[in-house]
Amino acid sequence: MRGLASGSDEQSICIGCGLCCDGTVVTHLAVRDESDLGAPLQGLGVQIIAAADPPVFELPCPAVCDGVCTIHSLHRPSACAQFECTLSQGVLDGKVALEEARMVISATLALRDAHRNGSVNADVFEQHIDSVFR
Ligand code: SF4
Ligand code: SF4
Repeated sequence: MRGLASGSDEQSICIGCGLCCDGTVVTHLAVRDESDLGAPLQGLGVQIIAAADPPVFELPCPAVCDGVCTIHSLHRPSACAQFECTLSQGVLDGKVALEEARMVISATLALRDAHRNGSVNADVFEQHIDSVFR
């Protein structure tokens, strides 16, 4: 996707999704060091877990808002620009149509919210995320 919750062209399915930034698809992202993490995230209070190998920072990322990376035009960790979920890879490979992917994301955001308010079982939600995004 060229980076979590990002993408500057209209072909991107990532803008408005952000499921890989909010802790839904992955719980941590690897960083090389403090400079890779970068000043914008450090300014938002993000800290590296240095004991991990490789070092990581924990999601949800404080820079994501309504599925959009608010620091996209600034420095982001390199992992953000490299990450592709299974769904976005499917679109890139031409196996999933853009509109289909957008409908899946929309349904998943609704499912995430239902999961957060306790009306969807955690196992059901994880199975859905596994099958579509991981
Ligand atoms: S979960 Fe996938 S589609 Fe959503 S922002 Fe991340 S890479 Fe893009
Ligand atoms: S900096 Fe945060 S919000 Fe932006 S792409 Fe990376 S994880 Fe997502």
